Amino acid sequence: MPIIDTHVHYNLPPLSDNWSHHWQRAQAHDVIGTIVIGVDLKSSQLAVSQANQVQNWYSAVGIHPESAQPIDHSVEIAKNQLTVELGKIKALTKSDQVIALGECGLDYFHLPHDQTFTSTIIDLQKWLLHQQLTLAKQLNLPLIIHLRDKKEQAYWDFIQIYRQTGFASPFVLHCVSGPLSFIKQALDLGAYIGIDGNITYPQANDLRAIVKMTPPHRVLLETDAPYLPPVPHRGQTCLPEMIELTGKYLKLTFGLDLLQILENTTTFFPAFKAQADEG
Ligand SMILES: [Zn+2]
Repeated sequence: MPIIDTHVHYNLPPLSDNWSHHWQRAQAHDVIGTIVIGVDLKSSQLAVSQANQVQNWYSAVGIHPESAQPIDHSVEIAKNQLTVELGKIKALTKSDQVIALGECGLDYFHLPHDQTFTSTIIDLQKWLLHQQLTLAKQLNLPLIIHLRDKKEQAYWDFIQIYRQTGFASPFVLHCVSGPLSFIKQALDLGAYIGIDGNITYPQANDLRAIVKMTPPHRVLLETDAPYLPPVPHRGQTCLPEMIELTGKYLKLTFGLDLLQILENTTTFFPAFKAQADEG
């Protein structure tokens, strides 16, 4: 069954060292298309140049919340530098191969223990997300959203910023997580749910509960390679070809139809459909 990997990092090591080899192998495992996802300016530039070289590859460009760090203890210097980088990210979106903005979002999982510093970083992350939601709205591009928190705050902060910006294009909760009450609200706002290899982990009951409440027409399949390898490859580098195992798991465990997921993908990212119609 044909699969489009909607979130993969051929642009990051170790995949970037040998990316066309990994793509060949992925194709042997039914992968027919790819979206290479940027996490900062450099990886976004590489994502665009890779996508320009391969048929049925596209890219998303953006700045991950981990880049929201003060520079020389200064938030102002950090904002200035991020603003310059966002200008270059915006310029990259002129390429036809760029079909989404991201990944961007909020990550409160690894915050420092110092309270003051924590709130500085949270504020900077929120600012950076707000900038990118505004940019996506202006450019009319869908969004790849990364949210992670041990508690619930990042999820509700996202909803608040989403509402503030008036963003209304589709977005995907990449590598989905969060309380079910948040997932329900996000689905009501039109969210797609990105599912990765970690759904196969024995202790992933929270994730399975999310998939159970998600309408089948809102599911997207991702590897997030080189991260999050599915069972039985835990502890190894996740390779793009492993998406086949996650797809099989979704079919066996939830009765999800891979053709439906493919259709969801071309609805969310119409460029794939246009290309199939041309070819
Ligand atoms: Zn990712």
